[in-house]
Amino acid sequence: LLMQRVAVLGATGSIGGSALDVIARHPDDMRASVLAAGSNVDALVEQCARHRPDHAVIGEAPRLPALRDGLRAAGLPTLPHAGARALSDLVAGDGCDTVVAAIVGAAGLDSTLAAARAGKRLLLANKESLVLAGELMLQAARDAGATIVPIDSEHNAIFQCLHGREAGPEVRRITLTASGGPFRGWDRDRLAAVTPAQAVAHPKWSMGPKISVDSATLMNKGLELIEAHHLFGLADERLDVLVHPQSLVHSLVEFADGSTLAQLGLPDMRTALAVGLGWPRRIASGVGPLDLAAHGRLEFEPPDTATFPCLRLAREALRSGGTAPAVLNAANEVAVSAFLQGRIGFLSIAALVEDALAAIAAEPAQSLEALGDADARARRHASHAIATGAIA
Ligand code: NDP
Ligand code: MG
Repeated sequence: LLMQRVAVLGATGSIGGSALDVIARHPDDMRASVLAAGSNVDALVEQCARHRPDHAVIGEAPRLPALRDGLRAAGLPTLPHAGARALSDLVAGDGCDTVVAAIVGAAGLDSTLAAARAGKRLLLANKESLVLAGELMLQAARDAGATIVPIDSEHNAIFQCLHGREAGPEVRRITLTASGGPFRGWDRDRLAAVTPAQAVAHPKWSMGPKISVDSATLMNKGLELIEAHHLFGLADERLDVLVHPQSLVHSLVEFADGSTLAQLGLPDMRTALAVGLGWPRRIASGVGPLDLAAHGRLEFEPPDTATFPCLRLAREALRSGGTAPAVLNAANEVAVSAFLQGRIGFLSIAALVEDALAAIAAEPAQSLEALGDADARARRHASHAIATGAIA
């Protein structure tokens, strides 16, 4: 059997760390051959010392000398690289078979698309790239024969229920479960005063700051609706959301005959990553057994889209199609970053997204250029609304 060589993009993040944990459990079958981060040179060098990849890439080009020095000081043979272009070249090159796409935000688009175009096995965590350019991504993967294994836990659950096949007419409905985030049951008066520290303290999942805020606003579930639409080819009427605070049932697929299949597991992303790394085999992930008797109850309730409008906005963007999801995603990235910096309030995140969607009309999205243009316009629009205090 050949050694699976894995490129881990976003290695220093939450998903990246979980991926390296699973890879290290299977030293005879797989190894990390490329590690990439954005700006954190020290963490990247430390990971290189542990996992001995052939290549390390830092996103911020001015940090290349620091990366080179760090690798040399540690006596490592790993080759240093910098910048988005170098990353996409390495991803597309023959130094890796599998790509874990776990960069956060639209910054992950180029490298994720490069993996799809090069026909790699693509373990896709970077949901923003699918929201932004889902059709192009799926088309590129089909053309190049790339296998996409969704890593987002809900989509990974659906992938498992469908045995990796597409959702045909036999699938009546797909239901994404949502934890409801840290503010489930809160009203808008309380939400107005929420701090970044409260928003990133997720009750069930330990994740990076951006997706944690997305979970708190329910935008995460909105992005996931769009993600599911692309991955499984279902129209929005056949995609549902159900709040399930225990986060043990990761999603459900209902078939024409009335059967519903679900995937259950502890809220630990190593399960989804092991599905992707081992597929179609089952391999060890380090995640412990699920003791349902100890949990006792599984609860379900409909989402509160009046209090958390981001989910409604995402569904509207999915229905509008074209460039609307790109606008939604870009405005949200700007808004979340401003919220984390303490520049706007929690409720302003949804307000900024709604404002950008209203101001920038959806256009057909046939090209990467059109999508990039919509993304840039939405970023400018939202940044301007924040800078002028129009939405604070
Ligand atoms: P983190 O914030 O924990 O990690 C982000 C990673 O991306 C870091 O390694 C960061 O490097 C790197 N990065 C950021 N910008 C760039 C860039 N321009 N070039 C190269 N690398 C970059 O995020 P998460 O791991 O939580 O999430 C990653 C993705 O996975 C997101 O799209 C998220 O929605 C998705 N996801 C995450 C889940 C989770 O449980 N965490 C669950 C489902 C999906 P540095 O450290 O140097 O900044
Ligand atoms: Mg998810």
